[in-house]
Amino acid sequence: MGSVRRIEREKKTVDAMIRLYCDKRHNDSAGLCDDCRELMDYALARLDRCVFGESKPTCGKCPIHCYKKDRREQIIEVMRFAGPRMLWTNPFLAIGHLVDGRRKIPPLPAKGKPGEPGQRQPE
Ligand code: SF4
Repeated sequence: MGSVRRIEREKKTVDAMIRLYCDKRHNDSAGLCDDCRELMDYALARLDRCVFGESKPTCGKCPIHCYKKDRREQIIEVMRFAGPRMLWTNPFLAIGHLVDGRRKIPPLPAKGKPGEPGQRQPE
């Protein structure tokens, strides 16, 4: 699977998880609440700038974890809630994520230019 497909699939997974979490926890009929919208934007931007590119581990097993502390706490809460439920609501994404989580964690990438593997991005 190429980098675009992998990153795009992860984006769909994160999108589905945050929507599921917000729907059940915040019950905002207008869609995502402001907090979850901000978290979504943040998480998708992190994926766009992931230093690992196509060989990225799941964020939960990442040795870098590029999230800011408060965002990391938010996404962990979302994952804990939505992860098990995704098997019912989005089984293909959930299984893909489980498979990705079993992959060997890649070595830290060599240094590169901004936006390329190896270049840590500002938060
Ligand atoms: S650096 Fe790690 S935490 Fe950040 S997007 Fe890539 S895999 Fe996820």
